[in-house]
Amino acid sequence: MHCPFCRHPDSRVVDSRTSDDGASIRRRRQCPNCNRRFTTVETTSLSVVKRSGATEPFSRDKIVGGVRKACQGRPVSEDDLAILAQKVEETLRSSGSAEIDAYEIGLAILGPLRDLDEVAYLRFASVYQAFESLEDFEAAITVLRAGHTDHDEDDTAEEPPAS
Ligand SMILES: [Zn+2]
Repeated sequence: MHCPFCRHPDSRVVDSRTSDDGASIRRRRQCPNCNRRFTTVETTSLSVVKRSGATEPFSRDKIVGGVRKACQGRPVSEDDLAILAQKVEETLRSSGSAEIDAYEIGLAILGPLRDLDEVAYLRFASVYQAFESLEDFEAAITVLRAGHTDHDEDDTAEEPPAS
């Protein structure tokens, strides 16, 4: 759950309430980074808004299908893909919105796919983010390399000493 104000990746739930019909949960959250509060509503139904404006029900199978192409020839199992699709769904649901932009889905895939397989991640990102040049790949690889030396989720972690 990203903070909508500063995009901090974590938030703390300060209050939860189930709606009267039990179909949704309202959560009051606080960002540990900027301390601002926001509300999310988690519902049981999740729709995808396509670029055409049409909506369709969210489908984990579609996530798996899209990511599987990027994983061809990579050591990624069907179980890995299923877990990734589950993570994506959890991320989208935690946004609190019942309607998700198709673009948001691609964004939600990138994080867990990067953790799963970096080559597949680059393939997926190159299509999804429409890489146009070698520089785009270089920039993405630079970010990946930076991630290798900074796996700590704490933003205040010190830089590792130069060797
Ligand atoms: Zn924040």
